[in-house]
Amino acid sequence: MKEDPEALVAAANEARRFAHAPYSGFRVGCAVVDEGGNMYRGCNVENAAYPEGICAEANAIGTMIASGGKRIAAIAAVGGRDEIEPCSPCGGCRQRILEFADQHTRVFMIGPDGEIQAHTIGDLLPTSFRL
Ligand SMILES: [Zn+2]
Repeated sequence: MKEDPEALVAAANEARRFAHAPYSGFRVGCAVVDEGGNMYRGCNVENAAYPEGICAEANAIGTMIASGGKRIAAIAAVGGRDEIEPCSPCGGCRQRILEFADQHTRVFMIGPDGEIQAHTIGDLLPTSFRL
């Protein structure tokens, strides 16, 4: 279960149901599992002041940290207006993921044919910012 792609995608899709996306209509859900196998969910939360909205990934990662989780073992994100569409984490969220992951941490998303795709965060953000 710890890094089961189908379970993570299903949890992300469950969180997506609660997205607050009245402006874009693009609802995103995310599920993170930490090293201990604990799962955390998040959805996007838009705001009338657009830049104040937050991504589903940021929401889920924040919940992991606030709950005592330390490291991301795997993460899934799904999004779409009505049905799930191909959707990948935005640039900012790739950096957010990498803060609590390593280059090999798997990121699951939905591909163009509705299939679950597995990437590594290193593939998605090969030249990340580091202090
Ligand atoms: Zn994002």
